[in-house]
Amino acid sequence: MQIKIKFTECPHCKKWYLSAELMSYTSYGSSEYWSDSKCSEISISEYSFMPFSKCDNCNGFFWFDDCRQLEDYEIRKYIKESEDVGQNEKIIPHEDKNGRTKVIIEFLRQNFENYINENESLSLNYPPSHYWFDMPKHFIPDLLYILKKPEKLSNENEIYTRIKLWQHINDLIRDKGFQFSHITSIRRFADIKFLFTRIKMRKLQKKQHEAYKETRIGNMLQLSKLLQKKDVAYTDKIVLLIELERQLGNFEKAKSIIEGADISDLHNYSKFIKKSKRLILNKSTKLFKI
Ligand SMILES: [Zn+2]
Repeated sequence: MQIKIKFTECPHCKKWYLSAELMSYTSYGSSEYWSDSKCSEISISEYSFMPFSKCDNCNGFFWFDDCRQLEDYEIRKYIKESEDVGQNEKIIPHEDKNGRTKVIIEFLRQNFENYINENESLSLNYPPSHYWFDMPKHFIPDLLYILKKPEKLSNENEIYTRIKLWQHINDLIRDKGFQFSHITSIRRFADIKFLFTRIKMRKLQKKQHEAYKETRIGNMLQLSKLLQKKDVAYTDKIVLLIELERQLGNFEKAKSIIEGADISDLHNYSKFIKKSKRLILNKSTKLFKI
């Protein structure tokens, strides 16, 4: 696993951020792909490659592409300046082959409170670690907030946000294959408690999914419209359009996209197309594992 450290400035309030970007990631074992293009095995890389973040100082969302990247000398100057006013006793990093590492460590040391959360673990990136316990609950409202002003988003960023919203609403009903057989023994009280918590959570998530019905449909329609724009290039455009139309219940339209598609566009998706055709025939809108 290779990690790149970036210093970024919030474009709204100018607060400095340190974020870790995953450069390469080896996944052991097989990945599961779903029909809405979600890959269930890569949650680590999914959230480490996010192109946007949320500022914990001004609560504004920002896209890394729109941010100014800080230079090492600026951090050094900052560290030097705060030492001059005698806020703390610090080691000033020197310019050497490990200079950058020292700057990063020193920056962290000075801003440590900003990077520490309730669980006392370092949380450099958005989404913050407390989101992980119930990602749809925290993440969906953030995505909806970003989409309140779509005119401020580029086509590319709007497509990204809408795909994430689509997938995270689907997560509420995504059957990740939990089976009773996964519990080897229910002798222990903790096992029974876990099982009931799991059942309760699934019931609650199903309710949440129903509450998002209008949002879900509106988002899929908008995403389909965006992907059909002539000037929009997106790698899996055709496949996503087929799935969106089928999940919206527009079976004839989904069928006509498959029939009208270039063979080369569908070349790598034979399994997906085969399953889609069958579900279109059965007039089914269900999400499936490829
Ligand atoms: Zn800010």
